[in-house]
Amino acid sequence: MSIIVSERKMIKFLDLEKVNNRYRAEIDERIKKILDKGWYLQGEEDKTFEENFADFCGVKHCIGCANGLDALNLIIRAYGFSRGDEIIVPANTYIASILAISENGCTPVLVEPSIVTYNINPDLIEEKITPRTRAIMVVHLYGQAVQMNKILELAKKYDLKIIEDSAQAHGAYYNGKRTGNLGDASGFSFYPGKNLGCMGDGGCVTTNDDELAKKIRAIANYGSDRKYHHIYKGINSRLDEIQAAVLDVKLKHLDEDNSRRREIAKYYRDNIKNKRIILPEVYDEKAHVWHIFAIRTNNRDDLQKYLETNNIQTNIHYPTPPHKQGAYKEWENLSYPVSEEIHRTELSLPISPVMTDSEVEAVVEATNKWNI
Ligand SMILES: *Cc1c(COP(=O)(O)O)cnc(C)c1O
Repeated sequence: MSIIVSERKMIKFLDLEKVNNRYRAEIDERIKKILDKGWYLQGEEDKTFEENFADFCGVKHCIGCANGLDALNLIIRAYGFSRGDEIIVPANTYIASILAISENGCTPVLVEPSIVTYNINPDLIEEKITPRTRAIMVVHLYGQAVQMNKILELAKKYDLKIIEDSAQAHGAYYNGKRTGNLGDASGFSFYPGKNLGCMGDGGCVTTNDDELAKKIRAIANYGSDRKYHHIYKGINSRLDEIQAAVLDVKLKHLDEDNSRRREIAKYYRDNIKNKRIILPEVYDEKAHVWHIFAIRTNNRDDLQKYLETNNIQTNIHYPTPPHKQGAYKEWENLSYPVSEEIHRTELSLPISPVMTDSEVEAVVEATNKWNI
């Protein structure tokens, strides 16, 4: 193992402090206003952010909630899907997508991803549709919008809802439309490390469906359509004023941040030249917002250790597929070889809007010198 630039500072996988400090003054000002006013939930800040994020996605409604898992859960609940209903979902996703289905008593039906896009393989969906199928959940994994054309046709043909998990893909486009506007309803997460992240937990649902929006807003607030009037057995899942204000400040810079991510991704893709490494592919530059820059190699653990020695932090998204997790012991004998292959070989290189050119170059240099 060679150590290339030992005197260089650690290149962080994601320097969140630096990400948020760019807007520190404006965020301080907005939070101060909230504290001065003394109104903490479901106030002006929520309303403003919801309107601005709906505009950004090009949809009619945005409903803030507590986190991304709740957003997906709220959509499934509002549709009334429950025990006996099946929802199709990619086998390789962050487990939250699948947990939201289980939480409602529905059966997650796993479909293998494409080894090229890492998103659900549209050609393998139809064979999994049964009379009990109610919805297809697409996950725009790593920040790349799913190619929706075939999936939209299937949904029409079999009368299925399309639920988007957009937790990794704020701002990505498919055919001129943003994620959050590609299906019937979409869940977003504003977990701090996402492309649009707050300073704690947060999430939202976007949709063009007026009835669904009304129902989700009520369910997320104890099933209440007006104060002390409860029409659903709801939950408590709200986006607070401070998080909404932080998100509203950062939303203005999201396209710019995503452009910088694209620039870094392009530099990586043009300059990483190591025969042992498979680089990610894109079908359209605007389709990807590079939440994760996922490379693959047969010697993933070795590469990760080597980069660590060279002061470069990486991550694995994800080490264990959902069907091999203890939470889903009932699936332990199932086999999803494509998903398993991705989990075995994936490594995420640092990518963020605050990485400097010299940091990006250093990652390329080290990666190209990796020799096992
Ligand atoms: C982050 C994430 C979620 C969950 O979001 P939380 O806000 O952490 O609950 C769901 N799906 C995917 C694909 C994610 O990356």
